[in-house]
Amino acid sequence: MPPQLATKKHAKYFQRLLQVVPSRLADHDYARLAIAFFAISGLDILNCLNDLSKETKLEAIEWIYRLQVTGAGARSGFQPSTMIPKDVPKYQCGHLAMTYLGLVTLLILEDDLSRVDRKSIIEAVRASQNADGSFAAVIMDSKNENESDMRFLYCACCISSILNDWSGVDKMRTIDYILNSISYDGAMGQGPGLESHGGSTFCAVASLFLMNELHNVLTNDQLNRLRRWCLMKQDSGFHGRPGKPADTCYSFWVGATLQMLDVNGFSDPNEHRAFLLKTQDNITGGLAKCANSHPDPLHTYLGICGLSLLGESGLCILNAAFNISDRAYKHLLKLHEVW
Ligand SMILES: [Zn+2]
Repeated sequence: MPPQLATKKHAKYFQRLLQVVPSRLADHDYARLAIAFFAISGLDILNCLNDLSKETKLEAIEWIYRLQVTGAGARSGFQPSTMIPKDVPKYQCGHLAMTYLGLVTLLILEDDLSRVDRKSIIEAVRASQNADGSFAAVIMDSKNENESDMRFLYCACCISSILNDWSGVDKMRTIDYILNSISYDGAMGQGPGLESHGGSTFCAVASLFLMNELHNVLTNDQLNRLRRWCLMKQDSGFHGRPGKPADTCYSFWVGATLQMLDVNGFSDPNEHRAFLLKTQDNITGGLAKCANSHPDPLHTYLGICGLSLLGESGLCILNAAFNISDRAYKHLLKLHEVW
């Protein structure tokens, strides 16, 4: 019998992550919101979100709102954990990636975002954009401390699209940064002059997609080179850079990019599925980055997203650009109707 996706085991794995994180994952403690997103969105994609009781979902919503720094102007947004000291003002600031994760996790839980400080978050997005078009993760006291690259540019685009307000993004500068980050081989790096990479290529393509500019700013030749680069990243599963071994997470990073470029059907789905199923742990649940390795929250979530992009039966359809279920995306569209 061909291998099957151990859906119930993976659902249990995600449920456990919401209760207790094993000591092996202690390093992730500073980013609890990311773990919560992987678990809650993972249950959603598995079509098991209702395994969580109504009370647990409401508790999760309250916990996420406790991570919000409100009315702090350019320092507004969501934080990664409630462990950040509240009495040290310099630590009281949102982080663009966590703001994106907070918003999408609330959407998955069918919250109406009514307690989100939308105006201040847009102000924070505006303050995070650098002169070269990139975005900083956080507004620190010194500009030199800031991490700025394609990841946070993607988060800024997701936040603007979710809040239906692009006034915090200078689209011309944003597009320039993306175009300047196209490498000699046709895909994108984290910034100008950097090596192209599956993760940064996803962030760049999804940002153009969310701005509704993908087919306006890239020529047909550029789009075809991108498609070719992505398709060439498959051996059995996908890898993120030439010469690297296949890794579960690129089933999403590259798979989602292929879908936004309308060529998902040109990869080999059988080889791809077989690779992903070999990385699952049939006893504890969870997927690892490759076979015979330990499962972790990120690879479990992104591997399951990769299977959804392959049309695995029983899984929710994925919205590739936002990296959430199509069901959660439709909930967002309903909110936009009444805003
Ligand atoms: Zn990986």
